[in-house]
Amino acid sequence: MKTGIDHDAKTIKLDNYTLSTFRECPQKYAYRIKEGLIAQPEGYGFTEEKSLPMPVELSFGIAIHKALDTLFNEQNLDLAIARFLEVFADPPEDKKRTPGRGVEVIEGYWDRWYEADRKYDRVQSELSFIAPLGAINDYEVYYGGLIDKVLRSEDGEIILMDHKTSSWESQYLVPAYALSNQFRGYIWGFNTISPTESADHLLVDILLLKPKNNDYFRSDIKADPSMIDEWKAGILQTAQMMLLCDQTDIWPLYGKEPCTNWNRLCTYFQLCDTEPSRRNAARNMLYTIDHWDTDKR
Ligand code: SF4
Repeated sequence: MKTGIDHDAKTIKLDNYTLSTFRECPQKYAYRIKEGLIAQPEGYGFTEEKSLPMPVELSFGIAIHKALDTLFNEQNLDLAIARFLEVFADPPEDKKRTPGRGVEVIEGYWDRWYEADRKYDRVQSELSFIAPLGAINDYEVYYGGLIDKVLRSEDGEIILMDHKTSSWESQYLVPAYALSNQFRGYIWGFNTISPTESADHLLVDILLLKPKNNDYFRSDIKADPSMIDEWKAGILQTAQMMLLCDQTDIWPLYGKEPCTNWNRLCTYFQLCDTEPSRRNAARNMLYTIDHWDTDKR
């Protein structure tokens, strides 16, 4: 799914990344989602469309997800490790996310959760959804996502699960997920596409890469229908703000805090820091186009 505003189809398609990019900084949304810009590594010339190497955090996370799918679906540690190594076969240089570290993470996860997870029936892995959320002016708003696991407990309750690998060690790591828009969206999405089943909570399954070892937590996120209504109203209002920015072609630069989120400089800093009349030259020299498309992940 290519997200954003489609004037011909009169739709606004959102996922958590698109939504949080706009909420972080509307100009960042305009560069990443509307224009599809990504920074090009040194040596790349500007072309209309080009796929660039995946960041190591993303490729490591994808390989770990593949291994966890195997642990849940086939309960086979050796096979899970083999699938991790297959997906993470050509890793970019990184001190923390190495093949050896990945194997340690998977073995530790198996030791920590194997017994506890035997009580669940796995209903589905990687449940993709997209559904209409409401209308803004004459645009239909859709919201989509991908739920890592749908499980059923021994007493028949549906539990959604999302795996997160993180290297951010903080006392706020677990509580911060309680208000996650992404997870409320998953609960809404599951209940919307599953007429005969419903869920009101989600387990965040955190795999924490500390400097010297790994840790494993789970946090139970609850969202009753009134919380989901609140989430939905907030998304529709954000969609309305997107339309306003688009119609006026004014995309506020929210600097400075979002420019250094997670202690990293925003990938568009050089563009924003150039006077507007010279941005086209900087755009052509430093960026290429690779539209955000959830089907490519
Ligand atoms: S550099 Fe700052 S102002 Fe510019 S897009 Fe990024 S977050 Fe927004």
